Amino acid sequence: MQSGNFDQVPAEIINELIDKKILVDQSVDELADVLAENRDAIANEDKLYLVIQPTANCSLGCGYCGQAHNNTLMSESAQDGLIQFAASRIRPHHKYIAISWFGGEPLMGIKAMRKISSRLRKLAQEKNLGYVSSVVTNGLSLNNNMVEELITEHLAYKIEVTLDGTEEMHDQRRHLKTGEKTFSKIYNNLKNIVENYSDKILLSIRCNVDDRNLNNVPELIDLLHRDGILPKVMIYFAPVHSWGNDAHKHIESKKYWSQKQIEWFISLNEKNIKIDLLPQRKKNLCVAVDDNGTLIDPYGGVYKCTEVTLTPTYNNKNGKNIHKLGDVTIDPSDIDYASNQFGGFNEVDVIQNFPCAQCSLLPLCGGMCPKEWVEGRIPCPPIRYNIKERMLLSYAWNQSNFDVVEDEAKATCS
Ligand code: SF4
Ligand code: SF4
Repeated sequence: MQSGNFDQVPAEIINELIDKKILVDQSVDELADVLAENRDAIANEDKLYLVIQPTANCSLGCGYCGQAHNNTLMSESAQDGLIQFAASRIRPHHKYIAISWFGGEPLMGIKAMRKISSRLRKLAQEKNLGYVSSVVTNGLSLNNNMVEELITEHLAYKIEVTLDGTEEMHDQRRHLKTGEKTFSKIYNNLKNIVENYSDKILLSIRCNVDDRNLNNVPELIDLLHRDGILPKVMIYFAPVHSWGNDAHKHIESKKYWSQKQIEWFISLNEKNIKIDLLPQRKKNLCVAVDDNGTLIDPYGGVYKCTEVTLTPTYNNKNGKNIHKLGDVTIDPSDIDYASNQFGGFNEVDVIQNFPCAQCSLLPLCGGMCPKEWVEGRIPCPPIRYNIKERMLLSYAWNQSNFDVVEDEAKATCS
């Protein structure tokens, strides 16, 4: 085929390659096509996506966190502005409103969540839209009452909890601000959810991995297997990245990290856990480039990135966050989207400023994190270093290549 002798290749193979867009006509501008598809997917996205931080509080003091916490709860006026903002962002192509509760620790803001959920659900009903939510939580307060409330009142379909290893390792990394341990409480909560709620809500376990806990991952996998948790959760491993700080410097080699990931996949497969080995086409990167997505912080600030709020590194000398685009407590309709530093990714940056335009993985990773590129780091995902091994494993394990979802590629943010 590389010599152009297509007539010597069986027609069914050629057709399959054309169908999968592996073989394309020389005249096609693939980069332009890929970016046009991305823009088209965003223009037709069926959900209005809001990431909401109901509080600036969190009891954990994780070493890699770049946020500064305090006990601010989203005020009534910010809640009012948030609802007006949400209403103003609904477009004819939206079919539902999707909320991601984010923090700080969002469940410390449960009082605000209750009021906001009820009003957003009402808004969705009035506009004839569906409504779902998900929660990214440290897992400390996931008792029965809380889980039931999340399911029934907040219409949560997914809870995501971070475990950074087995007890000793996790407690070194994800302890309270006062230094106390958290693993056993979180782990018992997870066990309870798996035992009593796994038919009602999806539980996702994220493991943030750098050089310090890399070798503990197999022990975590074994523990989750022994306790019967593994088959009932989604689990994924994310390389620790900068959160306006130096956290990324604890990964010496992404190539090594990615080889380790293959070992974890093999361990999971030995335990009959299906792994999302092959990435799918990724058209809508993240809220930074998605016109349908926005983050509202506990003060009513409007942002287009989940990793810049509550993060003092991004404050200018007057204390104003340089990524803040507006304030719903002042005017929910006056949002300066043009000053979103990460917004031109599919239009300009990917073509002019970053190497993704020459990279064959662009359709799969979407270019990863615009913020990482803008800040001068290279955000390439593990597939850049282990896609060949993944393809071999996928073939060896007889996986269907095109019906799996790559969660890890979505997991750029914390
Ligand atoms: S992927 Fe990067 S730019 Fe997008 S929301 Fe996450 S941190 Fe921000
Ligand atoms: S693998 Fe890296 S260079 Fe390639 S498209 Fe993704 S982010 Fe860009």
